[in-house]
Amino acid sequence: MYNQIVKKPDKCYGCGACIEVCPKKCLKLGKDNLGFKKVIMTDENACISCGACSKVCEALNMQKGENIQCLKRYYAQNKDSNVLKRSSSGGVFTALAEYVFRNNGYVWGVQMNGNGKNEFKCASNVENLKSLCGSKYVEVDTALPFSKIKEQVQEGKLVLFSGTPCQVQAVNLFLKNKKYDNLILVDLLCYGVQSPAIWEKYISEVSCNNSKISNVQMRYKEPSWENYAMKIEFDDGTIYKKSRWKDPYLLSYATNLYNRTICMNCEAKKFPRVSDITLGDFWQIDTLPVISKEINIDSGVSIVLAHNEKGNEILKQLDEYLYMHELPKQIFTNMIERFSGCSKKNSNKEQFFKQLKTESFEKTVKDNIDSQTYTWLRFKYLKVKRILKRIKN
Ligand SMILES: Cc1cc2nc3c(=O)[nH]c(=O)nc-3n(C[C@H](O)[C@H](O)[C@H](O)COP(=O)(O)OP(=O)(O)OC[C@H]3O[C@@H](n4cnc5c(N)ncnc54)[C@H](O)[C@@H]3O)c2cc1C
Repeated sequence: MYNQIVKKPDKCYGCGACIEVCPKKCLKLGKDNLGFKKVIMTDENACISCGACSKVCEALNMQKGENIQCLKRYYAQNKDSNVLKRSSSGGVFTALAEYVFRNNGYVWGVQMNGNGKNEFKCASNVENLKSLCGSKYVEVDTALPFSKIKEQVQEGKLVLFSGTPCQVQAVNLFLKNKKYDNLILVDLLCYGVQSPAIWEKYISEVSCNNSKISNVQMRYKEPSWENYAMKIEFDDGTIYKKSRWKDPYLLSYATNLYNRTICMNCEAKKFPRVSDITLGDFWQIDTLPVISKEINIDSGVSIVLAHNEKGNEILKQLDEYLYMHELPKQIFTNMIERFSGCSKKNSNKEQFFKQLKTESFEKTVKDNIDSQTYTWLRFKYLKVKRILKRIKN
C-alpha cells in the first residue's frame, strides 16, 4: 500500500520526498489547477508496498511537542544598508549565509526565475546569494533538493538550508531526524504559500510585453519597511512599482484567498520547531519599552529565535555584522499565537474565483477584499506614537 496522502492533496505539503525515495519510480510531481504541487501515482501496479513513501511523508510523521518556548529570542538588524535593501526584514538571513561562506559552506534558499517560477538554489558566495534574498510569497515550483543536501552534509561541508517550516520539517525527516553538527536549519515565521497560477495571472497583467522578470522585490522598502511596495524589473528595462496599499497582489496575498489548503491547518509552524533558528518580521517592535537607538526601523527589523545551543552559538558569532538585542520573554509569549496559529478560510473565496474567470485579477481583488483603511490608519497612528516615544526617550 502506498502513502495515502497521495490521494488526499488537501493534506499534502508538496515537498516531494515520497517521489525521491520511491524505488519503483511510480510517483511523479504534478500540479493542481492553482499551480500547487501535487503528487501523482503513475502506475499502481508497479508499487511494491515497501512503505518508503510513507516513512518520509511529513503529513504522516510531523514531529510534535508541548514546549512552545525557544531557547533564546532576539530582534536584529544587519549593519550593512545594502543588505537591508534586498532583504525582507532585518537581513539576518544574509548574515547567517555569510557565516557559512566564511566556513566554505553552501547555502540553500529560494530564487524566482525569469518566468516567475520559484526554485531552490544553492549559493556558495555572496554574489550568488543575492537572488535568494527577500521573500517571494509564492509556492516553490520544484521538489526539494533532498539528495543534494544529503550529499553535501555527508561530505562534511557546512550546509545551511532555509525555507518555510514545512520545507525544513521535510528535510529533517528525509535525514531521518538525525542531528548533524554541519547542517544549519533555518525556517521562517510563515503565513502560508500562495498560488503559482494566481501569481502568473498577476504577472501577465503587470508586464507590458510578456517580458521576462529580471528581479522581484515583494518588500521593496520605499518609502519604508512597513510602508513597502512591490517592485518588479523586467528584461526589456520596464519597472513595475506599486505601494502595498494599491498593488492587488500585496493587498490580497495574506487574505487566505489563494494559499495552499494545508497552510490553513499547518502543523509544521507549531512550536517546538525542528529548525535551529527561526526568522520573521518583527512587526511588533512598538511593544518594546525601549527600542535600541542604533536600529533604524524604516530599514526593517527581524525577529530571531534560537531553538538550541547550536543556533544560539552561531548567532553570537554575528555580533560584528548585526545589531542584535534580546527580546523580553513576555513580549514573545504575547506573540506566540500569531506565530503558530493558522488563519481561517476567506468567506469570499468562491466568489473571488468565480469572478476571476471573467475579470482581471486587479478588479477581482478590489471587489473581494475588505478596505485597507483601518490597517492604513493604524499604521499611521503607530508611526506618530513611535516618533513621540523616541523624542521622550
Ligand atoms: C512564504 C513566506 C511566508 C512568510 N510569512 C511570514 C509571516 O507570516 N510572518 C513573518 O513575520 N514572517 C514571514 N515570512 C518571513 C519574512 O518574510 C522574512 O523572510 C524573514 O523575516 C527573514 O528576513 P531577512 O530580512 O532576515 O532575510 P531575507 O533575505 O528576506 O530572507 C528571505 C528568506 O526566505 C527564503 N524564501 C524566499 N521565498 C521563499 C519561498 N517562496 N519559499 C521558501 N523560502 C523562501 C529565502 O531563501 C531566504 O532564506 C515569510 C516568508 C515566506 C517566504
